Formats: sequence, structure tokens, C-alpha cells
Amino acid sequence: MDKFYTQAPKLNRERRFPQNMQAAHGLVLKAKNGEKGGARGNRYALPAFNVTNTQGIDAAFTAFETLGASGLLAFSNSALKHIGGGDPIFGLEIAADYIEKKAARSSVQVATHLDHGDYISEKGRKVVQGAVEMLTSVMADNSTDHAAKQSMPLKDNIGFTREVVNMAHPVGVSVEGELGVLAGEEDEDTKSEFSTYTDPEELATFLNETGVLMLAPTIGTMHGPNKGKPGQKVKLNISLAHELLKTANGIDDEIIFVAHGASTMYEEVRGYAVEQLEQLGIDATVQTWKNFVGTDWDQIQGLIEAGFCKINTDTENRQTYLAGLLGAVNENAAKIDIRWYEKQIWNTVTASYIQKLIMAGNYGVWHEPKIDVGKFVFDLHNV
Ligand SMILES: [Zn+2]
Repeated sequence: MDKFYTQAPKLNRERRFPQNMQAAHGLVLKAKNGEKGGARGNRYALPAFNVTNTQGIDAAFTAFETLGASGLLAFSNSALKHIGGGDPIFGLEIAADYIEKKAARSSVQVATHLDHGDYISEKGRKVVQGAVEMLTSVMADNSTDHAAKQSMPLKDNIGFTREVVNMAHPVGVSVEGELGVLAGEEDEDTKSEFSTYTDPEELATFLNETGVLMLAPTIGTMHGPNKGKPGQKVKLNISLAHELLKTANGIDDEIIFVAHGASTMYEEVRGYAVEQLEQLGIDATVQTWKNFVGTDWDQIQGLIEAGFCKINTDTENRQTYLAGLLGAVNENAAKIDIRWYEKQIWNTVTASYIQKLIMAGNYGVWHEPKIDVGKFVFDLHNV
């Protein structure tokens, strides 16, 4: 580990982003410290909503503004390719411009984040470099070589991640690293059949050498819609999470943990989707919906207490989107109005974002919520 003779560069907090935007780390640090308005209370978390289109972005902004919540919008490589018509850099330009314009009129502060950027492949490097230019936060996932389907040696993970920190921190862009291997499939670019827990000693080395302020350790979560066997609860290693937090706080108490593979399978969404499918006479898909397994919220709650203040959600957004689409088709499959279908889906996705933000305690941060948070009912029949 004698590659770096100097200390990793500190995150430049003087950087001013476009109006109402800031580095993800600034927002998640407020959450770790329980800061809302001028007051300090309980720790809360920012769900990072993985978005793939303007509907997802619009729904998230509405949810943030309804609750006065801190906003975090994340883009995977494949989402950026989708937005950019195959070109992830063009996808970054479109997404960054769109969000910048939305944020300028917003009542809350938001951050934009590259999910699972890697600095290993040539293609990955280009996207990370583009994201450092255009977003406010990047993930440098160098713990797994996804192309070769193997975990990276610690020194290589540190080396590549440090290169990203050297580039991003001086311009105020926060960096999230990953240590350990997370099983499951997030999308075509990030898939792993194996999983390892994060080792506390390696954690200290990694944090000291890379200088990252956000880190995704592996403590038992899984990517994808099948996080365990149907009927069995996903069990996370919460005691390891607390042990890791102690180590991280000893190095810098501004370090934030990130939970990946943390989507919930809402019974409200499952029940609604199965109902729509049955009414449409579709059986095979009903089975799939019945077998989806998410990470229960009580487990995630335990993680927030252990300093996991960024909670990634992707699968659940996809499921809610699909549930909304099925509901719209079931209600009226002959409506010749794209806006109507989009509006139905948008309502559904907005409701699930509001639900997740309330669960994470992320409301009343920038202003009082516009709804009575205690009375919010997540029911897709009434959105
Ligand atoms: Zn992930």
C-alpha cells in the first residue's frame, strides 16, 4: 500500500453547484446528524431513487417537495444508455440538464449520483469522468470486475477508487466506494453470483487509503427482485454493520454507509399487481410476482441506526411502475391518450416514493411537509 505517499484530497465544500443542488455527501451527512431545518433530532436516511426516465424524475421531485425532503436521484450505466439512445455520456448530459432545470424551481435541495460506476474498464472510466463533470456524486464500484466476473484484489479496488477521489473531491463531487461483493443482478452491467461480507480490518485500510466519505459495505443485502427464498425473511448482519460503523467513525465521523440491494417488496404493491393480473387473466406473471422477495423494512431500519444514511432503491421502483401500468391497462386498455397512462403510472410511483421517504424519516428537512405524514396511507387503489 505504498502507492500513495500523500493524503487523499478532502471533499471541496466550497464548490457551488446549480441552484438547489449539492453533493450527495452534504445531504446524507445532515441525515446522519439528524439535521432538519435548524434543529437536530433523530438520524434519518435518504432513499436514492434509481430513475430511468423523466416520469421517475418528475415523480421523485413531487415526492421530495410534498415532504420537504432531501432528494437523491441515481442513474445506473444502463439507465444512462437508455436515456442517451445508447450513449451513456449523452444520457448524462440530458439527465443533468433536465434535473438542473427542475431543481432551479424546487423548494428542496437535491443531489445527482452515478450508481455503480467502475474505473476498471475503459467504458466505465469514461462514464465516471463524465459523471464527475455533470453530476454531484459518483459511485466508484471497483470491488468486482463485472466483465471478468471476479472480485478485485483489495489493492486494485483501493487504487482505482483513489484515482476517482483524486479527480472528484477537488471539484466537490462526493465519491462512494464499495468493499466486499454483493450478490444478485442490478442490471446487465452489474451482476454477481457470489457475495462476501466486508472485513472490518480491510474497511479501515480502504477508508484511510481512498479518502471516500461514502461506502457500501456488504452485510447481507442482495440486488434484484429475489433477495431470498419466498416465505423466508432476509436477514442482514446488523451487528457487523455496527462494528463497521465504529471503525469508520474512528477514522472520520462524517463517513456514511450506503445500503445496496435494499428494495422492499411492498405487500400493497404485490397485492395490487396480482389483483390487476388476475383480472387481466395473466397467470404466469402472477407466479413471478408472488415469488418476489424484498428486504423487510425492519431490517433497513436497523441499518439506518448503524449509519446507513443512503438507502438504494431500484427494484421496488420498477415493480411499482409495472403495477401502475397494469392498473392503467386494466382500467382502460383502449384509451388513446399517452398522457393518461403516464399520469396513472406517475401517481403510483409518486405514492411509493412518498411512502419510502416517510419510512426513512426524510421529511421536514427543507420545509414543513405539505401533507399530514402520520395520516399518509400507501394504497395504490387511491392514488
Ligand atoms: Zn447496487
